[in-house]
Amino acid sequence: MNIYIPSSSILVSPTHHSASSNPQPNMTLHHHHGLFFVALAILYFFTISFPTISARSFPTPSISHMHKHKSWEGFHNFTNSRPGQTHKDLSTVKNYFHRFGYIPNAPPTNFTDVFDETLVYAIQTYQKNYHLNVTGELDNNTVKHMTHPRCGVPDIIHTKMRNSTTVHFHMGSLYSFFEGYPRWPEGTNQLTYAFLPENQLHDDYKSAIASAFNQWTPVVKIAFEETSSYEMANIKVAFFQGYHGDDSPFDGPMGELAHSFAPTDGRFHLDADEYWMASGDVTTSPVERAMDLETVAVHEIGHLLGLGHSSDQNAIMYPLISSRVKKVDLTSDDIEGIRELYGIN
Ligand SMILES: [Zn+2]
Ligand SMILES: [Zn+2]
Repeated sequence: MNIYIPSSSILVSPTHHSASSNPQPNMTLHHHHGLFFVALAILYFFTISFPTISARSFPTPSISHMHKHKSWEGFHNFTNSRPGQTHKDLSTVKNYFHRFGYIPNAPPTNFTDVFDETLVYAIQTYQKNYHLNVTGELDNNTVKHMTHPRCGVPDIIHTKMRNSTTVHFHMGSLYSFFEGYPRWPEGTNQLTYAFLPENQLHDDYKSAIASAFNQWTPVVKIAFEETSSYEMANIKVAFFQGYHGDDSPFDGPMGELAHSFAPTDGRFHLDADEYWMASGDVTTSPVERAMDLETVAVHEIGHLLGLGHSSDQNAIMYPLISSRVKKVDLTSDDIEGIRELYGIN
């Protein structure tokens, strides 16, 4: 039985991540007095933001042996842990659930390593959202699911029951929206996008992103036009490594692949440490972790238009994205969701 509904009031917006459990480097330029320090700070920012991205080194051509996300793979150590027990670094699992919206409130300090009620509830909610067996334990199946590469936008958790009288639900639809249903203004029929100039992307990268935009155009009736002005563009596409100025630092190969922000923010960020394939057949790539750029972009553009995650695993808006897979066609779940948001019949 599906107890989740697409239009609930309990939502988690990617623009409201709490960073309290994931302390970020704190760069406060305005605390420096004097031009020299400002210049140093700016130089530091660019150094950590764009460390290796250039026309020559992007994407990283070497085949990494690290096919899996280091810290998430560590979750397998907890498969035999039980409620009430304490396990070293179990707090990393709580950080994960907090990061993706399953533990709404972080404690004032760090999460503990105790397998407490909060963790049980988070696991159960995760299992329900992904239609897994609801055990409340970190069983093998659940951990395997958690370590799968995915979009960094938190899942939107629907906790209202199906029989709620205040919310209508859509039979068979599993799509969701951001809190407050943000969308581009009524009458929008064109949006511009631009690539971060420092990325110096090859044309095949730009073509893959353009194709991804084109998947949405016929459904949402919005044309997407590339512009050279990054600052003025409605949608700003950028590849970053690690910390890059928002609350969601990238994490190296695999793990988190990309994230983007709800309308009308327009920021569209991709992890430069992934092995992106912009052209050619990703399904036959010799690189195990090869990610199809268009596939991930179609998903992220859904967020940029206002869709949250869907628990329909065939939908473009499903949060987990596999390597060596091409998945670019919108499903009926995606189409119904975006049509509802934009009032298109
Ligand atoms: Zn997503
Ligand atoms: Zn970002």
